[in-house]
Amino acid sequence: MNILIMGLPGSGKGTQSDLIVEKYNIKHLSTGNLFRKEIQQKTSLGEELNSYISTGNLVPDELTIRLLKEEINKPEYNNGFLLDGFPRTLNQAIELDKMLSEKEIKIDHILYLDIDEEVIVERLSNRIFCPTCQRTYHRLNNPSKLGEFCEDDNTKLIQREDDQEEKIKNRIEIAKKELKPILDFYQKQNLSIIKTEKTDSVEMIFSKIKEILND
Ligand code: AMP
Repeated sequence: MNILIMGLPGSGKGTQSDLIVEKYNIKHLSTGNLFRKEIQQKTSLGEELNSYISTGNLVPDELTIRLLKEEINKPEYNNGFLLDGFPRTLNQAIELDKMLSEKEIKIDHILYLDIDEEVIVERLSNRIFCPTCQRTYHRLNNPSKLGEFCEDDNTKLIQREDDQEEKIKNRIEIAKKELKPILDFYQKQNLSIIKTEKTDSVEMIFSKIKEILND
């Protein structure tokens, strides 16, 4: 099964993605994670990516599309994938369509996590993640059982540089502007909108997703 998940930064996309890939045994392909790994390796490509990401801006389409294409062609994605963080622009959505039809595969479900904007800033400023395995936690709503350390590999959890308040606002503005035409584009395909409220638990949202995916 191939799934695409979309939502504004802080919509719960990352948390739900972890649950989906585990339950449906498919491979997670997050462009944000891909880019952060490259940055950690301190390559020149990583430095270039960091110049965009650390300021809360999007990586240019040409570079993003090239890196996604290289990644998605790896055999580990042949048994199904969850694409997260891509497409972020209409151009990327169009290029993704082309890429997939060349590979003769299709996206089975397109999920959009719809959340009120006011919830986002609170969520993102409390988000911490594991730099080793990329798992994310929320200091209050989804804390690690090991406090400031990752439950999976005991690495010290850190805050993403782009999760600082000013940068969050910039990312939301950019994401909102870009999202509209992408949603319009997918409206004509199999798009499922999942409306989530501030009080919805991770499990409640995951139940809604499972209902859609099990159909
Ligand atoms: P994320 O982990 O999905 O929030 O992505 C972190 C950052 O990586 C974003 O704020 C962008 O700077 C960059 N990024 C991730 N995916 C894309 C994409 N599809 N297009 C452009 N930039 C991206």
